[in-house]
Amino acid sequence: MPFKKELFLGIGILVIILLLLSWVIFLKPNSVKQQEQPSVNAKVTIFQPKSGEIFLGVLKRAAIAQPIADKIVQTLNRINFKFNSLKPMDSFKFFYRNDTLVKLIYKKNYNTCYSFNNIETGNMTISMSCQEIATKVMLVKGEIKSSLYESMLEIGEKPSLIANYTDILAWEIDFFTETQNGDSFFVLVEKKFEDSLLVDYGQIEGVRYKGQIGDFSGFYFVDPKGNRDYYDAKGQSLRKSFLKSPLRYSYISSYFSRGRYHPILKIVRPHKGIDYVAPSGTPVSAIGNGVVTYAGWYDGYGRFVELSHSQRFKSRYGHLSRFGGGIRTGRNVTQGQIIGYVGSTGLSTGPHLHFELLQNGSWVNPLKIIPPRAEPVKPEYYQGFIRVRDNLQMRLTAGN
Ligand SMILES: [Zn+2]
Repeated sequence: MPFKKELFLGIGILVIILLLLSWVIFLKPNSVKQQEQPSVNAKVTIFQPKSGEIFLGVLKRAAIAQPIADKIVQTLNRINFKFNSLKPMDSFKFFYRNDTLVKLIYKKNYNTCYSFNNIETGNMTISMSCQEIATKVMLVKGEIKSSLYESMLEIGEKPSLIANYTDILAWEIDFFTETQNGDSFFVLVEKKFEDSLLVDYGQIEGVRYKGQIGDFSGFYFVDPKGNRDYYDAKGQSLRKSFLKSPLRYSYISSYFSRGRYHPILKIVRPHKGIDYVAPSGTPVSAIGNGVVTYAGWYDGYGRFVELSHSQRFKSRYGHLSRFGGGIRTGRNVTQGQIIGYVGSTGLSTGPHLHFELLQNGSWVNPLKIIPPRAEPVKPEYYQGFIRVRDNLQMRLTAGN
């Protein structure tokens, strides 16, 4: 019967739709589950014996799990190792990957090493080699997918490289707002490996950012007088007389404004600075060379530092938890020097830096001021710079 046929067809279609729906709802999310993060957490910790401490004591202090400590001792027993008293200059280097102990180098009397490898596999091996740190200049490059931070972590780099890279280009690009998916980044950087684990970075030699906003490069150059900086292709410094911000912050919670509702005082009043939110203890740097004109408690500002710079600029830093070493009224500071640490002292709702900039005694919006660039490459060293630049430029664009 045609009617029955249609009914069957209808039910059939319904079933197919339901199956499709359930696939979309239940199966699809599983099939796109998070890609596994590559190991970015390679870490090395070093312990030195305290006076009278025994071998197992150091392992215990380093919080090495008992079964692993036992295995290390057994392995040493097998090669008739003498557990004499440890010397203060002996060292224990623990290598971790994603918080799992993978290697230990015990260095005895400066030059004898016992290297325990493959600890995480359960098949620990021992060798007598003192593997030194291997250094290699490498090109890190990639494309922005969500943010620069995430994209760099995804290819196995550490946050310190990201921070240093963005510092170099801070005046060229706002990495919070001006990056776009599909933009590309390049960093020519010295990498330090211990036993093929990336443990640290050395000098960044060159950087490039190629995006919709523009194509920016920076080349590290040290002139024969020892002046060192990052310069653009024309030898102009990428640095300015002021840092773009005095700290590495999470976000800005309050901008410069002529009238703002104050959360504690519950009145509308101007906010004559920028509030940078960052964890308590984050270092705060002098934005430029200058002299400390005040360092102490200052009413609602709590622990407070004021610096005086050239061109009649003053910068002010409030709510600090403590001051940087040697920060006292009358002292000179250089750009980037730590003048204090983020806190919540004075009239403050949580850890942040309240930052103000004054020009000729009046408050100005720090985000609107574009200070002059630092010194360019000196004319007498320009030829030398060009050679360095061309070499770096070639390596930064290699394979691109
Ligand atoms: Zn503020």
